[in-house]
Amino acid sequence: DGLQVAIDGPSGSGKGTAAKMLAKEIGLPVLDTGLLYRLIGGLAIERAIALDESESLVALANEMLESVAWTVDGITFDGENWTDRLRSEAVGNAASKVASQPEVRECLLGLQRKIAESGCVMDGRDIGTVVLPGAQAKFFLTASVRERARRRWIQLKEQGGSSLEAVVEELKMRDQRDQERQHAPLLQAEDAIAIDSTTMRVDDVVDRMTGVLER
Ligand code: C5P
Repeated sequence: DGLQVAIDGPSGSGKGTAAKMLAKEIGLPVLDTGLLYRLIGGLAIERAIALDESESLVALANEMLESVAWTVDGITFDGENWTDRLRSEAVGNAASKVASQPEVRECLLGLQRKIAESGCVMDGRDIGTVVLPGAQAKFFLTASVRERARRRWIQLKEQGGSSLEAVVEELKMRDQRDQERQHAPLLQAEDAIAIDSTTMRVDDVVDRMTGVLER
């Protein structure tokens, strides 16, 4: 079986960018698992499904599993590219609520493991702890709340987004929801290597990771 690299961390820690760069460098496919939760959140918004209606969300997740595909550039549903649409704060928020439903997480587990079978870099919140506990390399990326908010704020500005203070508050709420949920909370795996990226460039983060892989 192929090499599995798990990268976890909170929103804005830079794990998505680092995962893509690392995957390219070592020649493995990459999956941003947040996009799966975002797609369910985006579909729920579009179809006006309540974000705490576990049964409807599971049905949606199963429908999603039938028609989802992804590349390094993002995710398609029913042949349509959803990636850009899924980047909004509204969808991120919906994703975080959807992700607090254990039944939804359960649905996505099989797909994520199947994808990883032949080798993969996977980033998310519970990859090293729940999805791929046997991954050969695990990283836990962090950064200060302020720095993470600043990064997200810059991204959102391109879409005409909100104030930095609003992004800080939003991020704190998202952190709390990710950390406090009963099922698969955001947690550093015991055997994960922590990288604090607050003052690091993403190239340096990736260098640190390849350094670990070469050992
Ligand atoms: O990483 P991203 O912000 O795209 O993820 C959106 C939401 O999906 C997160 O707020 C988190 O609650 C959830 N998520 C998760 N487990 C993952 C990936 C994302 O719970 N493996």
